[in-house]
Amino acid sequence: MLDDMLQSIETIRERPVWQPIPSSEEALFHSDLPQLPEDIKTVHEQFMNHILPFGVGNIHPRFMGWVHGGGNMAGMMAEMLSAGLNANLGGRNQIPISVEQEVIDWMRQLFGFPDGSSGIFVTGSSLANLIGLWVARNTALGDSIRKNGVPAGKLTAYTSSAAHASIAQAFDLAGLGTHCLRTIPVNDLHQMDLTALQMAIDQDRKQHLKPFFIAATAGTVDVGAIDNLSALAQLARAEKLWLHVDGALGAITMLAPNLAPLLQGIEQADSLAFDLHKLGQVPYDAGIILVRNGRQHYETFASQASYLHREQQGVAGGTFWPCDYGPDLSRSFRALKAWFTFKVYGAKKMGDMIAHACALAQYMAACIRSQPDLELLAPVTLNIVCFRFCCTNPDEINTQIVLRLQESGIAVPSTTKIHGKLAIRAAITNHRTTSEDIDILIQSTQTLGHALCQDNQKKTPS
Ligand SMILES: *Cc1c(COP(=O)(O)O)cnc(C)c1O
Repeated sequence: MLDDMLQSIETIRERPVWQPIPSSEEALFHSDLPQLPEDIKTVHEQFMNHILPFGVGNIHPRFMGWVHGGGNMAGMMAEMLSAGLNANLGGRNQIPISVEQEVIDWMRQLFGFPDGSSGIFVTGSSLANLIGLWVARNTALGDSIRKNGVPAGKLTAYTSSAAHASIAQAFDLAGLGTHCLRTIPVNDLHQMDLTALQMAIDQDRKQHLKPFFIAATAGTVDVGAIDNLSALAQLARAEKLWLHVDGALGAITMLAPNLAPLLQGIEQADSLAFDLHKLGQVPYDAGIILVRNGRQHYETFASQASYLHREQQGVAGGTFWPCDYGPDLSRSFRALKAWFTFKVYGAKKMGDMIAHACALAQYMAACIRSQPDLELLAPVTLNIVCFRFCCTNPDEINTQIVLRLQESGIAVPSTTKIHGKLAIRAAITNHRTTSEDIDILIQSTQTLGHALCQDNQKKTPS
């Protein structure tokens, strides 16, 4: 299995990034519950022939869709060890929890979080954003809501129009409702407009509402923009609001010395959500939540079930029980693949790799600017480039370009809308991507664009 997987990764460039799934393949996955044993060799063959070739392709260097990480070898091997160990990291007296907390401590150091801050691994930033909001909500409304439920209160919160959908979803899931979340417009750099934010807060106070929470973004999902975190931290402190930072894709660029200054102010966040499975290249899934005030974090989740009784010694000992810091009780040893990744490559090399991905995005932007038939649609801050092929009915043609790129297996960009214009979006989130891969994407886009325009003209009678 190991040889097959290593060989498959080594030869990844020889295969299409993605290929359409024949219905005969999909049909294989509707069988009855297996009653009799099969040889593991046969099952592995099924994996090789019918599962491995039909993923989305994010380990391929020309996968640039959405924001999917490429994974890494050390992390992959650690996953095998972790599965063999089969540790349950809800709590108790075990070194795996010390490993998780060691990685969390590295992250505390990286982001300048103080002693007394807390953190755990979670599936991803969607859950990390929700945990940040839960702690902020309970801090604002008091612990009695754990018993009495969330009152239809007067709390209001603020995020930018470029925020990820998981922020609004968190308000829904936290029982506060999305109606209390104000959407603040962004400036030319796709950052939250600070004047508009201040006005919205003032207006809510005049209405006797209670502003309590700002969700800033470090790396917006559409274009990779970073809010002005220092200014937001200052404003949050002056207004006594909780500052949460959704750093899902961008926070880990802190490892790259040339990009870290963009994140200035992140050290002042009350809570920070981020992923190691995007630019951090740790295999899925590996999200993290850090909370500045560990006591508030603990008080949001800890409970006293008798079967989880703690002892001073024995297996039920252990001082830090992760189940006190989030909604999960049984938890996998996600931290091990991150621990291996940081140790095997080192933070410096990981920072260089992230800087390289972002430099490739700048290279791509420069190529696009130099081509009269291409248009850059948003400034490039980190690893995301939004552009389009110029033609009549550009939305339709660019949609077609992306579909054909994907279905031909040449490259997988995705799409988004920038100021109402359909954009081809390339998020360079794979450590295997090189400048030749960027050239191939650009040239194929142009070739397809011209061919599609000609087809279109033929179809339209003059
Ligand atoms: C990816 C992303 C999320 C969601 O993170 P998951 O790990 O997919 O749950 C949230 N916010 C931003 C800005 C993202 O890019």
